[in-house]
Amino acid sequence: MSRGLYIHVPFCVRKCRYCDFFSVTDVSLAESYVHSTIRNISALNESFSTVYFGGGTPSLLSAEQINRILSAADIESGAEVSMEINPGTARESYFREIKAAGVNRISFGIQSFNDKELSALGRIHKASEAVSAVLSANKAGFENISGDIMLAVPFQTENSMRETLEKAVSLPLTHISAYLLKVEDGTPLSKDRSLLEALPSEDGTADIYLETVDFLENHGFEQYEISNFSKNGFECKHNLKYWHCEEYCGIGVSAHGFAEGERYRCGDTIESFINSPLQRNIPTGKGGDTEERAMLALRLTKEGIPVTMFPNLEKRSEQLIKNGLARIENGFLKLTAKGCLVSNQVIVYCIG
Ligand code: SF4
Repeated sequence: MSRGLYIHVPFCVRKCRYCDFFSVTDVSLAESYVHSTIRNISALNESFSTVYFGGGTPSLLSAEQINRILSAADIESGAEVSMEINPGTARESYFREIKAAGVNRISFGIQSFNDKELSALGRIHKASEAVSAVLSANKAGFENISGDIMLAVPFQTENSMRETLEKAVSLPLTHISAYLLKVEDGTPLSKDRSLLEALPSEDGTADIYLETVDFLENHGFEQYEISNFSKNGFECKHNLKYWHCEEYCGIGVSAHGFAEGERYRCGDTIESFINSPLQRNIPTGKGGDTEERAMLALRLTKEGIPVTMFPNLEKRSEQLIKNGLARIENGFLKLTAKGCLVSNQVIVYCIG
């Protein structure tokens, strides 16, 4: 099976308060970075069935740069080519140009349709810009559009969450990723007492998540992963490769990859990535063993794992089912929405 190709674009207009992804706000090295990305992709002697531009903010690259990068890759016909777009960077002509370059799926970092919440998160865009970005992309001919929404952010209430979800389902989106905000150590958010105090309580967070699952399911977005929902047939094929434990190549600073049974991460800085003939891949361990496959498959709420996969699983699953954390369908153990809320503990319990 062909691998996926992940390309990390590590530039952002400004750092969001909650973000611990690798990105810098100095874009002066962007063109050299594109050169190096093309050099690395050209050295990969294989074709790809999915491509994913992540970041950072890939939409800080020009459509012409995106076109050059895609032209360097051997992309199979019918491949899914996704690109993350920050709504604050989008222009209507841009969507037409990246579509012509071969991008056929857009993932917008919407996060919220509430300006107070967006400002607390440190996002550069306003809710109205996210609405027009989605509409512009659709007008440019994109039919596969995803939106990221963040749950349990500062100042969020069940009401404001509902308003965000109502707006989301009223737009031409085919996929929604709804992530619970995690306060990462060292981020500005983790040090901002007033924002931390504005976070929903633990119970409030659980209610927001459960209500989100319920709302999206009732509006045609079926949950297929802990944080991912799609209209029929619009699951993200690239991300499904991760959860199915399939291999993929990662290009760019801080990108991860999985090839020949080994996981690796690109250990370069932006400068060393630009100046080295090829990126430096640091092995991070073997991938694809039974435990890892089970951990990833359990995230897939429609798929799950066979109850016979581990010796004690059938016995253990009784307790999970009793507590409403899992269900068994056709011999497969799957997480319920309540189980998704404590997925790490449930998964460890299942494979332990
Ligand atoms: S736009 Fe995305 S990658 Fe950039 S700082 Fe914000 S959250 Fe991080």
